[in-house]
Amino acid sequence: MQYELNDDQKLLQEMVRRMAKDKVAPGAIERDEKEEFPWDMVKLLGENGIFGIDFPNEFGGSEAGMLAFCLAVEELSKADASVGVLPLIQELGSLPILYAGSKKLKEKYLPSIVSGESLIAFALTETVGGSDVAGFKTKAVREGNYYILNGNKIFISNAGVADFVTVYAVTDPEKGAYKGASLFVVEKDFPGFKVGKKEKKMGLRASDTREVIFEDCKIPKENLIGEEGQGFSITMKVLDVTRVGVGAQALGVAAGAFEYAKEYAKERIVFGKPIIKHEGIGFKLADMAIQIEAARQLGYKAACEVGKTPKDMTRLTKEQVLLASMSKTFASDVAMKVTTDAVQVLGGYGYIKEYPVEKMMRDAKITQIYEGTNEIQRLIIMNNI
Ligand SMILES: Cc1cc2nc3c(=O)[nH]c(=O)nc-3n(C[C@H](O)[C@H](O)[C@H](O)COP(=O)(O)OP(=O)(O)OC[C@H]3O[C@@H](n4cnc5c(N)ncnc54)[C@H](O)[C@@H]3O)c2cc1C
Repeated sequence: MQYELNDDQKLLQEMVRRMAKDKVAPGAIERDEKEEFPWDMVKLLGENGIFGIDFPNEFGGSEAGMLAFCLAVEELSKADASVGVLPLIQELGSLPILYAGSKKLKEKYLPSIVSGESLIAFALTETVGGSDVAGFKTKAVREGNYYILNGNKIFISNAGVADFVTVYAVTDPEKGAYKGASLFVVEKDFPGFKVGKKEKKMGLRASDTREVIFEDCKIPKENLIGEEGQGFSITMKVLDVTRVGVGAQALGVAAGAFEYAKEYAKERIVFGKPIIKHEGIGFKLADMAIQIEAARQLGYKAACEVGKTPKDMTRLTKEQVLLASMSKTFASDVAMKVTTDAVQVLGGYGYIKEYPVEKMMRDAKITQIYEGTNEIQRLIIMNNI
């Protein structure tokens, strides 16, 4: 089995598990209530090398691979999905630079992202509909040594806290938002860059989600990632890879809810015995365990296979694309089902904010929506089987 964990992966898993239990879980409910971005968690992850797990040594990463990265995301998300998402967004924003950026761009931006000293966001979605880039309107026009960027992006994770934002914009209107699109690195201090108000969300509430506005935003031409017209292919490669990480986040949320519900069911006595001994509850927990283990095996397999793709513009094979979409879809559907059942296992307490499972149920939902909704994943799977 290619996805059996080696000693290094087991050590990393154990280290992150302990860190998540001791330092991430205790503040999870408070972070959710306050909806404050977790800067202390950014520092913690940076100091422990989490952002660099799957990055090359030359930029400060540890080259431990994609499975190791997913193990870390899973453990963090068991404790708090709003912390598990931090390394996911760092990857989403920076992989375009790693895969297709010039040497100068890589050297300028990647080291501080890998260390966690800087944060980056990825701005793709527009109001016309995130699932279909064809209607995207954000435009970049070349003027001498600069591009002038105009347009709006919505629902951008980390937009209000990021130092840099990778932006998808149309550079050739005649070719349209697929073939005529390009990617740029925009720094928050570039003139004409603004962020809108913070969105109030159902879950993932400690994560910062905002609109991004570009008004004659002036970008040096060197900040074009790759070549003009490569924006769509770079973005698709990146999303095919990063959605395996979203699957790991979903798996973590499911596993965290299951662990809590299982322990609760062993302690809670109703009709003279622990509720886990009542088949209605015991079978529910058994089904949760089955689904989580299946999601884990699919997720680890996907991480191993997708992790083999070179860190450049080499396209994923059909098998890798399928595994990425399947693992994200399956794990996120499992997360939604398992967290809902965990609330049921706790009865009335499951509905109360003092207990962690109601938050987990709210957090689980986003994993079915972002980085390509599960309907879009099923379309991808349908077209590749
Ligand atoms: C908390 C949060 C964080 C996010 N972070 C980011 C980020 O960092 N960067 C970024 O660029 N975006 C981000 N997004 C946006 C997210 O990726 C989009 O919301 C998502 O891709 C769906 O786009 P949409 O909301 O416009 O839905 P739509 O595209 O309007 O879709 C609406 C519904 O129709 C379904 N649908 C659409 N087309 C089809 C079809 N052909 N067949 C069947 N069903 C279909 C969808 O699955 C969905 O259920 C974030 C969103 C949220 C809520």
